[in-house]
Amino acid sequence: MNDDAVRGDESNESAADPQAEIARLRAQLANLRLLANTVPVAIAYYEAAGRTCQMANRRYAEMFGFDERSIVGRPLEAVIGAAAAAQIEPYRHRVIEERTAAAYEREVAGADGITRIAEVRLLPHVDAEGTSLGAFVLIADITHHRRAEAALRESEERLAKFMQASEEGIVFHKDGYITDANPPLLALLGYTLDEMLGRLALEFIAPEAHPQAAGIMAAAAETSYDSIVLHKDGTRIPVQFIVRTMQHQGQTQRLTIVRDIRDRLQAEQRIQHLAHHDALTGLPNRLAFVERLERRMAEARASGESLALMFIDLDHFKRINDSLGHAVGDTVLKTAATRITEALRAGDMVGRFGGDEFLVLLAPRAGAGVVAEVGERLLATIGAPLAAGGVTISVTPSIGVALFPQDGATSAELIQHADQAMYRAKAGGRARCRFFEAGMAEAALAELALESRLAVAVREREFVLHFQPQVALAAANGDAAGAGTATGRPRLLAVEALVRWAHPQRGLLAPDEFIPLAEARRLILPIGAWVLNEALAAAARWRDSGAVTAPVAVNLAALQFQGSGFVDTIRAALAASGADGSMLEIELTERMLLAQPREARDALGALREMGVTITLDDFGTGHTSLAQLKDLPVQRLKMDRGFVAGLPGDEASMAIARAIVQMGHGLKLEVVAEGVETEAQRVALAAIGCDALQGHLLARPMSEAQWLQWLRGQAGANGL
Ligand code: C2E
Ligand code: MG
Ligand code: MG
Repeated sequence: MNDDAVRGDESNESAADPQAEIARLRAQLANLRLLANTVPVAIAYYEAAGRTCQMANRRYAEMFGFDERSIVGRPLEAVIGAAAAAQIEPYRHRVIEERTAAAYEREVAGADGITRIAEVRLLPHVDAEGTSLGAFVLIADITHHRRAEAALRESEERLAKFMQASEEGIVFHKDGYITDANPPLLALLGYTLDEMLGRLALEFIAPEAHPQAAGIMAAAAETSYDSIVLHKDGTRIPVQFIVRTMQHQGQTQRLTIVRDIRDRLQAEQRIQHLAHHDALTGLPNRLAFVERLERRMAEARASGESLALMFIDLDHFKRINDSLGHAVGDTVLKTAATRITEALRAGDMVGRFGGDEFLVLLAPRAGAGVVAEVGERLLATIGAPLAAGGVTISVTPSIGVALFPQDGATSAELIQHADQAMYRAKAGGRARCRFFEAGMAEAALAELALESRLAVAVREREFVLHFQPQVALAAANGDAAGAGTATGRPRLLAVEALVRWAHPQRGLLAPDEFIPLAEARRLILPIGAWVLNEALAAAARWRDSGAVTAPVAVNLAALQFQGSGFVDTIRAALAASGADGSMLEIELTERMLLAQPREARDALGALREMGVTITLDDFGTGHTSLAQLKDLPVQRLKMDRGFVAGLPGDEASMAIARAIVQMGHGLKLEVVAEGVETEAQRVALAAIGCDALQGHLLARPMSEAQWLQWLRGQAGANGL
């Protein structure tokens, strides 16, 4: 086909036979037409003189609503329209007159109603003399191409707008060098655009984040990841990068959205903190503490070191909260948290377990002695006075200690045992530190049950008094045979009232089982008042029936004696029962008197004036000096039964017993021995001149009925 087409030009010169020539030309034309209709371009030829279309391929003809035949011979204006013809006139003119090619683009409103963007080329057709014969028209439909370009342009414009409008930082770089950045990014980093352009993007990223960023750049990955950028002033800013590969400014570039995530991180940290910390004190909460405790336990197990866990509970915190309000309660808790933290050393840790409970884990230390020292330090610092809500209060802690590994294999067990030790500390009078011991669990439980029950017992008056006589030794001397002596009638010196708790389940409980607890809880005050009233009421009954003339001896607790209204209480109790002072004996211990010697002397003096007998109980166990004793209005000494127990075999006990008797007599005091169980003890006591005795040898503490019966028996036997 090409050959034919080319030959067609050459054969113009040798047109011998017009008919043959015409046939040949027709054939050539047919070939040309075939070619012309095959190429993806619209083609036409217009002759110069008349501007009529001499030839067009199908594409061209159809573009303007003709076919290849009907278009031939039509003037340009008729084909493309007058307006379009005028529009292209400069190009047509150039091709025809200047005989040079021309190219232009124009929109062609097609016969099919579609407007196309046409790229038009006009080529001059010139004869051998250089005369313009016509022009070839070649039209390529570039609608697609132009639309794509426009879309790209639009998207770039959009991107540019977006970059400016975005609140997030956006930066472009090519091959790692910054090519563009938007105002938010400049604001985030503190640079101007000029300062950033052309610099390596990595320069603005924290060094430790370089490997990751460089790796992602090199891989041209489309991803997002957290990183750290550097502000001009050096501040490190945590950010999220969202990276894409994009066309920008006519090039393939990397776009990075830089999202400031400081707020997000702070919120995350806050949530994390809230989940693991107590909001009030800022200390790790139970969850966090136990997690760390378990980690430490695992480490200690591996290294063979030991740990100490302390369970700290504030004493009477509920009372503070209830009486002074929650604001004061909060201050107390915060202060306690700070004080605990400050009392510890690096490596120790502290957490709030809940309520008024704190946990402390001590880093490995040299032995229980050192742990006990820390305990003492905590007792002192936490218990120091503090100002809250306009008042100064002191809140002591009770501390329980469990050691790892010996006291517990798991965190739960260790905490439980420290808790039990803490309960023992509370039961022992609070404000103290106790180490866990096996068997504590049961004891703590029993104590707890007792404690919660004791208040009820006070309310329900579940107490009874037992009575035990004290008899002059001279009379008791002959009592071994059960008969009086010629020296005189056996004399009842006093009868001691001893309290028992009639526990509904456990039966009669001895004072040792609940008095210490009652003292610690201040329940001893109502119990003591009950005992005093009951004992005096009994004494009044016995007097009225003529059974007893000796005083009833009542034991007093330190707390009762400390109260300022102590003398008034006794006076009121005497008045209420109708008993007079001579019917009452009170038993005090040396310790109670030594705490406030002057107040004690005044109070006792007042009682003496009322006729009350005053006895020093458990004498010999305290440290009363002769001089102090001399100043106190005391009538009797009760030698502690610890000395009596050693009689007569133990020499030291013997010596002390003798000294007590001599000292007592020197001060004109009667000396009573308590806890006398054997005849040998009685003989020994008689030998050193002891005045009276009390003990199982004579009688056990008895119920009132038994006591009165015993009394009648004695009266019958020896006229007591
Ligand atoms: P205490 O005042 O020294 O009372 C004497 C204790 O010795 C009584 O124990 C009595 O039962 C016991 N006893 C008597 N004879 C013998 C004996 O031959 N051998 C032995 N081993 N013990 C004997 P109880 O009744 O258990 O009282 C113990 C302590 O409880 C009393 O010691 C007293 O300090 C206190 N107590 C008792 N009643 C009251 C009370 O009403 N108020 C207060 N505050 N304390 C009380
Ligand atoms: Mg007593
Ligand atoms: Mg005693």
